[in-house]
Amino acid sequence: RQTERESLYIALNYAKTFFQENLLQTDEGRGIGLSYFRERGFSAPTLAAFELGYSPDQWDALLTDATKKGYNPTVLGKAGLTIVREESGKTFDRFRGRVMFPIHNVSGRVIAFGARILKTDPKAPKYLNSPETDVYHKSQVLYGIFQAKQTIRQEDVCYLTEGYTDVISLHQAGIKNVVASSGTSLTIEQIRLISRFTPNVTILYDGDAAGVKAALRGLDMVLEEGLNVSVVMFPDGDDPDSFVRKVGAEAFKAFIKQNAHDFITFKTDNLLKDAGDNPFKRAEVISEIVGSISRIPDPIKRQVFFQTTARQLKVDEQTLISESNRLIRKQR
Ligand code: ATP
Ligand code: MN
Ligand code: MN
Ligand code: MN
Repeated sequence: RQTERESLYIALNYAKTFFQENLLQTDEGRGIGLSYFRERGFSAPTLAAFELGYSPDQWDALLTDATKKGYNPTVLGKAGLTIVREESGKTFDRFRGRVMFPIHNVSGRVIAFGARILKTDPKAPKYLNSPETDVYHKSQVLYGIFQAKQTIRQEDVCYLTEGYTDVISLHQAGIKNVVASSGTSLTIEQIRLISRFTPNVTILYDGDAAGVKAALRGLDMVLEEGLNVSVVMFPDGDDPDSFVRKVGAEAFKAFIKQNAHDFITFKTDNLLKDAGDNPFKRAEVISEIVGSISRIPDPIKRQVFFQTTARQLKVDEQTLISESNRLIRKQR
């Protein structure tokens, strides 16, 4: 089994190099892929740090090259690099005519790829990702963790973004403690991965409705793990990538400093806005927030949040505490 996994790593590493060479050394790659990355402002060292590449716009460019070099076609399939078409039984490359983002595990080995489309074809998905394989379990991976881990430790905070390009742009701007959940809601495994390096997470989600929703969803789980969560929302229409390119690294850092709110305060604000003056809805908000606070394992932190949210919710602190005690008793 171990050797089978090893063969997948080897195939994936080969594919990474194949895509890199195509990006930097072929006319097609340079004309299409490299100029795309240049337009996005990615420098040569950035391309190298994230090992970005390009997959040729052909049915079997990788398959042909790999076979010539002696790679086993079955292994290529198991690594998610090729697919078999059902009708014809023919095998072809999964990734074609896209810029390639290798996904590394925490020790830097390539385990999968994200691939972005270049043409504006509204029917094709913008990003195509590797399937689950023996070495790639999407729910356990954070994009950029290998490039970020040292700085996460140093800065004692991890910035969590939505996308590949957010991680890359911030890294290039000198903000290197950044990872991405890659468009999925956060999982417990991803949270535990972060907590190996720091207990502090700042969520930098896109400034759109989906970003706010994502920021409110799934975060109770993060509190439960004992992490300290803050949230920064970007102006509508911006994500960390577009925002840092617009304002520059220094203004970006200042923006984060000024706009980071702890998660409980952020959630309370958002829910209260939706509830308006409706007393039933306000009561629901209070229950919801008490629920969130009750998940925090540290009683001292819980106490601090009862104080601050009682003020926000305009209720008596003791009401929150007794409701929370009731919830916690019920859970045991
Ligand atoms: P770009 O700046 O290149 O448009 P983005 O990262 O800002 O990309 P978003 O639409 O904000 O893209 O999506 C965030 C992340 O969600 C992406 O980086 C990608 O990991 C994932 N994602 C987006 N669209 C898809 C899709 N169609 N299929 C699978 N994953 C996707
Ligand atoms: Mn978005
Ligand atoms: Mn973007
Ligand atoms: Mn985005």
